[in-house]
Amino acid sequence: MARRQIQVSIDRLRGHRDTPTPRAQKLPSDDRACPKCSSHYRSEEMRRNLNVCPACGHHFAVGGRERLQQLSDDGVYDELWTELRAADPLRFVDLQPYPKRVEAAEAKGASEALVCADARIGGRPCVIAVMDFAFLGGSMGSVVGEKFARACERAAERRVPFITVTASGGARMQEGVLALMQMAKTIVGFEALADAGVPSIVVLAHPTTGGVWASFSSIGDVTYAEPGALIAFSGPRVIEQTTREKLPDDFGMAERQLENGHVDAVVDRRQLAGRLARLMGILELPEAPPGSLALQLAQNGTERAARVAQALPHLSRRLRDRISRGDHPGGEGGRP
Ligand SMILES: [Zn+2]
Repeated sequence: MARRQIQVSIDRLRGHRDTPTPRAQKLPSDDRACPKCSSHYRSEEMRRNLNVCPACGHHFAVGGRERLQQLSDDGVYDELWTELRAADPLRFVDLQPYPKRVEAAEAKGASEALVCADARIGGRPCVIAVMDFAFLGGSMGSVVGEKFARACERAAERRVPFITVTASGGARMQEGVLALMQMAKTIVGFEALADAGVPSIVVLAHPTTGGVWASFSSIGDVTYAEPGALIAFSGPRVIEQTTREKLPDDFGMAERQLENGHVDAVVDRRQLAGRLARLMGILELPEAPPGSLALQLAQNGTERAARVAQALPHLSRRLRDRISRGDHPGGEGGRP
């Protein structure tokens, strides 16, 4: 019996398309074509316009270091922890071994999917952590988590605002559960900032998905997004293929997430640095209180533990009463 090929295309769900989306033409390497309006630009022209199409405002992807240059005063920043490299504890091999993939990504110039730096924006000092989608899809592995946590601690200790720009496909598959653990680690980093009273500012760039959206990037004190950025746990293609239902065209788009209340403002990249500087001015931190931050955090932790301990006898008394009444969750007719 001849096997019939299974058709998994979802085009039939999308309905017919009268006008095909304009495709970027293949151009000499120094030129770029806008996928939205098909205008052509030289790379230098694009760089000057911060990789935003001057004709239609389409936001192109930006690398980690280029983003730091765009945001920092005079393009000057001090990069941190460039020496950290991913290990391969699972000895993971898909089409090629994981270390080979890391090497190939490094050969393009970046050292990891997160670039951290001390910088100044509008004269105000801050710690910035920028994700680089070009490095293995901006995926969050153990090095990304470690750098992120260190950056949060540094901002908390120096009492300067923490800014992060995200662009990621989510947790790094090749590191398995170790990558998933970074979700909790980055959240703890934000907790340290909150305990120290230091603001966390998140800028969501295209795309912010998976474990990155499901962890730190959705809990900043202030959340900006770039126009047209996809911000969702799963992309629309995956959801449509799974549910066999058509999603709205603007599903997960920054503008829709603004309506949904997940985002505080959609900010054009050309205004981003000015906006961040103003925001940091509004959130200006008071002078550091006497005593080291470590001591302060330890005191906070002790106070919290003491509060929990105080509540315990009360809880256990309530539980004892419930058991003696026979309505404990274990079932009817408990022991007297
Ligand atoms: Zn355009």
